[in-house]
Amino acid sequence: MKIFNTMSRQKEEFIPLKEGEYRIYVCGPTVYNFIHVGNARPVCVFDTLRRYLEYRGNNVLYVSNITDIDDKIIKKANEEQTTYDVIAHRYEEEYFADCRGLNVKPATAYPRATEHIDEILSIIGDLVEKGFAYATENGDVYFRTRKDPHYGKLSHQPLEDLESGARIAVGDIKEDPLDFAVWKGSKPGEPAWPSPYGMGRPGWHIECSAMARRHLGNTIDLHCGGVDLVFPHHENEIAQSECANGCTFARYWMHNGFLNVDNHKMSKSLNNFFTVRDVAQQVGYEPIRFFLISGHYRTPLNYTKEVIESCKASLERLYTCRNNLDFALQNATGNSEELAERTRAAEEKFVTAMDDDLNTADALAAIFDFVRDINTLSGDASPAALQGAASTFDALTGVLGLLYNRNTDDIPAEVHKLAEERTAARKAKDWARADALRDELAALGYVVEDTANGPKIVKK
Ligand code: AMP
Ligand code: ZN
Repeated sequence: MKIFNTMSRQKEEFIPLKEGEYRIYVCGPTVYNFIHVGNARPVCVFDTLRRYLEYRGNNVLYVSNITDIDDKIIKKANEEQTTYDVIAHRYEEEYFADCRGLNVKPATAYPRATEHIDEILSIIGDLVEKGFAYATENGDVYFRTRKDPHYGKLSHQPLEDLESGARIAVGDIKEDPLDFAVWKGSKPGEPAWPSPYGMGRPGWHIECSAMARRHLGNTIDLHCGGVDLVFPHHENEIAQSECANGCTFARYWMHNGFLNVDNHKMSKSLNNFFTVRDVAQQVGYEPIRFFLISGHYRTPLNYTKEVIESCKASLERLYTCRNNLDFALQNATGNSEELAERTRAAEEKFVTAMDDDLNTADALAAIFDFVRDINTLSGDASPAALQGAASTFDALTGVLGLLYNRNTDDIPAEVHKLAEERTAARKAKDWARADALRDELAALGYVVEDTANGPKIVKK
């Protein structure tokens, strides 16, 4: 598999340090609010990468941190007159609920910053000892950026360019405007932990250096996040980790492009955001996941309500095709092997796309071509060919983390068909027809419940 490495700005063969085992670290959320659809992009994209690596027979150690102490969390706690940990805990739970809704596989570990203060202080201690960091009289500790000869290598910015934009602010106590905080001395009333520099709390960048080292070792295979994290967050992580550990921090770097609204990055600060929760309540979670992987991960995606609706319709096509396959399997009498050939071709196309820098857009196109083949060929297909098509269909959609709301019980195809018709009638606001179909379903012993993930058929 080839991936585009932000460090080299080239597609490179993705080879792990240890054969068959990938160690991946993904920067996770700061838990002070519900996540928005833009935040869910790295979550879904890199979960898809993980699923694909596993599908190809690898073991993946996948670590994604929770930033549970930060200015925004403290501000929110003050507004609600509660403590930072109450806020962090609440929104961490909401984040996990959204991850479950989006069918994200649980990470190998979800380390929290406040549970790694010892590891954080240990890295800071190494940096101070080697002269890469210094404490100031107010209890802050800063990284001495200019002392790192490789600083700027990820974002490809020479130090001179950074210098021209940096200013020492009034009252600043840093040696140099380029230096950044690894530890912040506490202000009155703020949460704080004891350290050799006095009471304080970690800077943002240092937590990822510390937690990657603790959970995955000094050198990891891949570090990922949104493209806005390249500078300064990831640049600073590299500086801290490589100066402290004396070895390469991450061998590959992947960054997803932005999710935009009217050509502006979806973000809390621009107030142009939609939370995953709100969108899921309207259309279900699965269309959000479909949407986020429908484009190549490095290209910008534009969010509109219409595009989410069209993703939902595309998903319905996949579900219908899969249900038809089940129906065909139950009634299989044909002897054609053409579908088996098309199945092999679909898998090959899918793998070629995914091997080319995780091209989920082309991988989805391969699946939709396969849908067309299934629809035309399943009538005459042999039972073995149908069985093969069904299991490949499940495997490929599973790699993309899709089709997880399928009823795998023995609900007859007829009932599925009625339920789909009812959904279509509701969409067309044909309430009389929808009610008639509901009654028909009831007569057969089924009800359709409208869940956050869309309609679900339940046996009465
Ligand atoms: P934050 O909570 O802002 O640190 O963001 C968490 C993750 O979401 C990071 O990997 C960000 O790069 C990513 N992210 C935030 N906004 C967007 C967006 N509009 N499009 C894509 N990724 C985003
Ligand atoms: Zn990070």
